[in-house]
Amino acid sequence: MPKKLVGIPERCIGCHSCEQACAFANFGVANISKARIKVHSTINGELRHHIDVCSHPKEEVELIENVPKNAVSINREENKIDIDEEKYPQAAAFLKECPPDALFFHDEVPYPLVCKLKLACVRWCPTGALKVEEVEQ
Ligand code: SF4
Repeated sequence: MPKKLVGIPERCIGCHSCEQACAFANFGVANISKARIKVHSTINGELRHHIDVCSHPKEEVELIENVPKNAVSINREENKIDIDEEKYPQAAAFLKECPPDALFFHDEVPYPLVCKLKLACVRWCPTGALKVEEVEQ
């Protein structure tokens, strides 16, 4: 059964270990700007953590990574991901499952970044704020 990565924000302490582990597992660098997961901490009278991630199985990530990043954009007005569906129909179908905040770009990486379930983040999270769930089909 396919799996997906799920964040549990109420357990998150905002340490960013998951982002470091992800960047290292995927690119061999401890540079969180290359992570495929992002944690935001907001202070609004209280500290609140939010985990953005959208995971896909390997076969789907391969198709997504065949799309040049300039063919994909985040449409903030309509809160969706824009992609040329005629040119990249399968990748478009997969990316439609992702919230726009869980799609990432980096200047040095030619394709859009989504979680590919390497799960280094789960192993390094000190509080159990990330878990893997099976997806019903
Ligand atoms: S490693 Fe865990 S606790 Fe730390 S920021 Fe990531 S999800 Fe939150």
